[in-house]
Amino acid sequence: MEILILLVVVVVLLFAVPDIRKSLISRPAFAFFKRVLPPLSPTEREAMQAGDTWWDADLFSGRPDWHKFHQTKAPQFTEAEQAFIDNQLETLLGMLDDFKIVQKDVDLPKKVWDYIRKEKFFAMIIGKEFGGLDFSPAANSHIVSRIATRSISAAVSVMVPNSLGPGELLTHYGTDEQKNYWLPRLADGTDIPCFALTGPEAGSDAGAIPDTGVVCKGEFEGKEVVGIRLNWSKRYITLAPVATVLGLAFKMYDPDGLLGEQKDIGITCALIPTSHEGVETGERHLPLNQAFMNGTTYGKDVFIPLDWIIGGQDYAGKGWRMLMECLSAGRGISLPALAAATGHMTERMTGAYAYVRQQFGMPIGLFEGVQAAMGKIGGTNYTLESMRRLTVTALCEGKSPSVITAMTKYHMTEMGRQVMEAAMDVHAGKGIQLGPRNYLGHGYMATPVSITVEGANILTRNLMIFGQGATRCHPYVLAEMEAASNPDEEQGLKQFDSLLLKHISFAAGNFFGSLFMGLTGARFNASPMSGPTARYYQQLTRMSRALALTADMAMLVMGGDLKRREMLSARLGDVLSHLYMASAVLKRYEDDGRQTGDLPFVEYAMSHHLYEIGQAFKGFFANFPNRFISWTLRLAIFPLGLHFNKPSDENMQVIAKQMMEPGLTRDRHTFLCFWKDDPKDMTGHMELAFLAMREHADIYKRIRKAIKRGDIAEDLSGEDLVKAARKAEVISADEAKAFKKTEQLRMAAIGVDQFAPGVIEGRKF
Ligand SMILES: Cc1cc2nc3c(=O)[nH]c(=O)nc-3n(C[C@H](O)[C@H](O)[C@H](O)COP(=O)(O)OP(=O)(O)OC[C@H]3O[C@@H](n4cnc5c(N)ncnc54)[C@H](O)[C@@H]3O)c2cc1C
Repeated sequence: MEILILLVVVVVLLFAVPDIRKSLISRPAFAFFKRVLPPLSPTEREAMQAGDTWWDADLFSGRPDWHKFHQTKAPQFTEAEQAFIDNQLETLLGMLDDFKIVQKDVDLPKKVWDYIRKEKFFAMIIGKEFGGLDFSPAANSHIVSRIATRSISAAVSVMVPNSLGPGELLTHYGTDEQKNYWLPRLADGTDIPCFALTGPEAGSDAGAIPDTGVVCKGEFEGKEVVGIRLNWSKRYITLAPVATVLGLAFKMYDPDGLLGEQKDIGITCALIPTSHEGVETGERHLPLNQAFMNGTTYGKDVFIPLDWIIGGQDYAGKGWRMLMECLSAGRGISLPALAAATGHMTERMTGAYAYVRQQFGMPIGLFEGVQAAMGKIGGTNYTLESMRRLTVTALCEGKSPSVITAMTKYHMTEMGRQVMEAAMDVHAGKGIQLGPRNYLGHGYMATPVSITVEGANILTRNLMIFGQGATRCHPYVLAEMEAASNPDEEQGLKQFDSLLLKHISFAAGNFFGSLFMGLTGARFNASPMSGPTARYYQQLTRMSRALALTADMAMLVMGGDLKRREMLSARLGDVLSHLYMASAVLKRYEDDGRQTGDLPFVEYAMSHHLYEIGQAFKGFFANFPNRFISWTLRLAIFPLGLHFNKPSDENMQVIAKQMMEPGLTRDRHTFLCFWKDDPKDMTGHMELAFLAMREHADIYKRIRKAIKRGDIAEDLSGEDLVKAARKAEVISADEAKAFKKTEQLRMAAIGVDQFAPGVIEGRKF
């Protein structure tokens, strides 16, 4: 007992008396912290400081405030946005024939280019005062998604000027003169922009661009002025082959000190008309056969005036920061929109095809193997749409949440790939044979494009999500890092000392909180909702607390090494991402008015995300180098074992059946998927066959029974089958007509395209 009292006194003295605490705890801890601090490159520091945090910070803190979360309102379209969606967007969709675009012309038809420019599809993010549409991120995302269900090539062409590029950079940083000149021209389609960062030597490591701009004197419009001599070689640049204005990122130097003392100025962005002397554009790449414009741009000793720098001379050297700030918005909209399109389209069309296509005497969607694939599509699409909406909500609130947009881009494009593969498996040959009736093939081929553009996913998962999350979302680490980098050592120590106590009590709370929640199965955690989702909130709060504890311990033990141990840190990033996706699912369920029909989808998504969280922790514990810490964490977080299971077979069967059921749930889950009321159309032929077969399901049932009884011969089809069914008095005359029409639709729907000899070779489609 005496020893215990003595211990308590020592601890109280150590922590409560500032001088003792400072010299015995804070100072050595500060020195340790400085030693293990991940070394940050200037570009990483800028990336880290760019953008905001939002719900990710709550999830990372271990104490998510669910009430606050549910107070955020899902964005609504303005009247102008809704009118555009109902009119211009639908008109454009009706004009798109993706088979011709990709296989014949390898370009959008001129009338489509003209329409896109005239109706300002390129100007969704440009302000009204400059003639743009000034649409919200929600409208932008909806429009790009819906186009992508029709044509990825058209969607990419529209999306690029509306994400990272001259329009966005000018809006945020442009001088008045630049805005007044360029924005109206971009808005009315007079100019087409592109933005060039990537080059042969600089892909993922975009900060390492070798392209240079040297400050010098030169001649511009007949006068000698101070300007920049540029040399660049860029590749993979979307819209470059048709662009009239080039946004260019380069490293700027001032060796002769013409602008001041700083010789190495840093990454800078300029806007250059492609007609300017020395600018070379026009060469095209062929990105997995897609028809959007993508290519190279070069320049050798191209002289430009200083006021072509975006934002003017004041913004020289600030390019990286500008890109990071703008990227985080675009990254949360455009590529996720393509993935959402894949989800909506594959769910709607796979549900239809699985019913229309019959083998072994019944719709293939009734076979359990097919239902597993369908369950995955329907369940994953619920998350895709939920995540799209939640991230867009943050952006509509004016946030620029860099970690959230990184998670959204990575996970949505990855989920897009998974649902696309599942849809291809269900469609089998129908998905493979290209032609006007194939709605999957081009999207399947284009899947890696969205994964690679705006950074590549491996890097996003392994470096960005946890790397930035750990510092941006942690309640203390960023402030501690700032204290550690304070040039005034004593001042830094003072800041650090005040943070340390809070950090220690935060960590202790995480440890004991995790243990308690683990032992009680989180049953005492508060849930903001009652009913079937209440348990999910309890488990998510528990896993959020576990993440806060594990992230702290990982940083404490591994320090800067954690950045290099990407496989470990990525797993913690996965936990954060799945917490975010699961929250998005719960929010959507509430926002949509708790629809009973949604529950199987919610159940799938929640089981999946909790299972993945469990697996990420399991992998982390198995590979964490400090075995003692690893075992302690495992014991604190899963004291009774890890019991999160994958979605059940029954759950997937229910989803599959719902996907084959026409009606409100199907329409609500796939509202972004465009289909045309035309039996010859890419998606229309499947939708019409499906609807007709469902409507006349009873006729099909009676005929099947009659065949079984032997009243109708087994091997009949088409007209012969109709006649036999009439003769056997299984169907009435009116039903015979309806059946005949439905059979024609069914045959068209299970059909694929075939081409006469020479047509494919000569591209004479
Ligand atoms: C169709 C298309 C359109 C594009 N449009 C544009 C555009 O308009 N403007 C523009 O500037 N750029 C554009 N890009 C470039 C795009 O952003 C880059 O392709 C991307 O940043 C990756 O560069 P990379 O392809 O050279 O891959 P690399 O950098 O060669 O990477 C190869 C692999 O290594 C991984 N990797 C690299 N470093 C790490 C690391 N530290 N940790 C873990 N993994 C790592 C990457 O994730 C990737 O999987 C486009 C690309 C494509 C394919």
